[in-house]
Amino acid sequence: MQQDKIPTIIIVGAGLGGLSLYHALIKNKDKKEFNVKIFERESSPTDRWQGYHIGLSNYGAQSLLNCIPSSIASNLPKATPNTVPDVETHGIIITDQVGNVLLAPPTKPFKDVYELAKISRGLSSMITYRDRLRDVLLEGVPVKWNKKCIKYVETQEGIWVFFEDGTQEFCNILVGADGINSPIRKQKLPELQIVNYGITHVGVDISIPKHLMDRASKIHGNVLARKTLGTKGDSTFMMTRLIPIKQEQNDEKNEPHYRATLVYSYPSELDNVDVESEKAKVDDNDPASVIEHVKRLIRTLRPDCELTDLLLELWDLAPKTIPNDPIKFPFKNYNPVQRRMMRDIDPMSIKSWTKMKLLLKNTKNTNVLLHLNDIHSDDYREHNLHKKLKKK
Ligand SMILES: Cc1cc2nc3c(=O)[nH]c(=O)nc-3n(C[C@H](O)[C@H](O)[C@H](O)COP(=O)(O)OP(=O)(O)OC[C@H]3O[C@@H](n4cnc5c(N)ncnc54)[C@H](O)[C@@H]3O)c2cc1C
Repeated sequence: MQQDKIPTIIIVGAGLGGLSLYHALIKNKDKKEFNVKIFERESSPTDRWQGYHIGLSNYGAQSLLNCIPSSIASNLPKATPNTVPDVETHGIIITDQVGNVLLAPPTKPFKDVYELAKISRGLSSMITYRDRLRDVLLEGVPVKWNKKCIKYVETQEGIWVFFEDGTQEFCNILVGADGINSPIRKQKLPELQIVNYGITHVGVDISIPKHLMDRASKIHGNVLARKTLGTKGDSTFMMTRLIPIKQEQNDEKNEPHYRATLVYSYPSELDNVDVESEKAKVDDNDPASVIEHVKRLIRTLRPDCELTDLLLELWDLAPKTIPNDPIKFPFKNYNPVQRRMMRDIDPMSIKSWTKMKLLLKNTKNTNVLLHLNDIHSDDYREHNLHKKLKKK
């Protein structure tokens, strides 16, 4: 690569990570200029349901605000509504299976994402709407849609990125921001092992009517992240905001509803045993069977009590068919209930750090290949990357 040419960075994946990186690179243009291109396999921003809730910690808020320009930050309240004093408390509460409080870490109150970002010690978080956060981050970003990356080829000059539609693009730095099943990571680190924790999570997005939310809040207070621990290896988790959803308000009773994400977790071995003396017939393509499976496990593993009744009622709210209501679920696809084994990468199974450091230190050109999930070490934080590339 010639020194006077502006290097090109290709980001594959316009999820939260890829979009944040795009903004950070453009925002820091005065420090180092790049041509930045971003490619996404989805055909448009509304190609599929973009999720429900995602937690933003104080460290995440600091990073996000550092990445994005003020024009985007001013829209953040659409995705991360400011706290509603006296109505909701941002924090976590953990109870046992009958609702006795086991852990309620003290929370530091804050009113908005800027205040959250100022908390420098401990962990605080706010529950944000992932779909809206993605919309906010998409603002002004020239994403090239319908571009599924299938492979890359490294050459002396740089990197060629190949797409499913038969096209290819050249860059000096390729960033795989292509999520948990990243094809770029799989090509770069074929030796990476995936470990299974032996735990299964079932997750679902629901809307809760106020009378049920009031019952739930009697047990857990107005804390937004609520966990219960069973005694047989199972646990429940609920994430919510106590801000009613507008489009749900014209139901029969005109009762406010709230968005909530529910997760039920249990030892994966229970997928293979008979509960309630009936062999569980669970078909992941049939949401009703997955919900029934969860309810069967709750009835089997939990004692008779108000909390168990409440959990069963909450799981009854999960859509049993894939919703096709253009008003409540405006996207082409909606994520129905999902049952997944909990898996993680085993970072000790790869030797990528040395390779990446050598690549950064020794090459005369800026032919660098990174995967976002690999940028955990301080060494690879974005500002350091900028510094290293600037020196070349
Ligand atoms: C549709 C969706 C809904 C989600 N909902 C939630 C939620 O409700 N709560 C929660 O906590 N987390 C959710 N997540 C996960 C969460 O967003 C991520 O784990 C986290 O934000 C890390 O972000 P990321 O940018 O690394 O990956 P992601 O946010 O997963 O984004 C990866 C992006 O890369 C794209 N991509 C993948 N492969 C290719 C390819 N070959 N070529 C081009 N593009 C590709 C994907 O379509 C996606 O847009 C969701 C992720 C997605 C994709």
